[in-house]
Amino acid sequence: MESRGFYNEILTEHNLRPEFKHDLPDADIVLEGVNQSCGDDIWLKLKVDGDVITDGAFVGDGCAISQASADIMLGMIIGKTKDEALRLGNLFLRMIKGEASDEEIDELEEAGALKDISHMPARVKCAVLGWHTLEEAFKQEK
Ligand code: ZN
Repeated sequence: MESRGFYNEILTEHNLRPEFKHDLPDADIVLEGVNQSCGDDIWLKLKVDGDVITDGAFVGDGCAISQASADIMLGMIIGKTKDEALRLGNLFLRMIKGEASDEEIDELEEAGALKDISHMPARVKCAVLGWHTLEEAFKQEK
């Protein structure tokens, strides 16, 4: 299947050359996210200006899916408002549950590469770790 190969390439690329996996020393929001079922452990770091996410990064360890998903997520949410980031997170969760339409998956751009996870229940927590951590980080901030 051609599309599956393409999706694997996206995940591999984000693991080999993550764009956002680095420290962010003066981050405004820092939160650890752990997925014990797999051993994924990330620290999400964000800079915000009012409601806008101006920069972000993550550090940590984990499986290829957790790391690629966090990297893709940061590429999608930087420059967006918190509300928009949370809306994309909700959409992502719905995709992982197999509930999103094709149009909605298109809107997720590269994150759509993870849609087959909906057929791999054991990997769901890996795929959503970054997004869950993001949601928790905003909740704790208030
Ligand atoms: Zn994992």
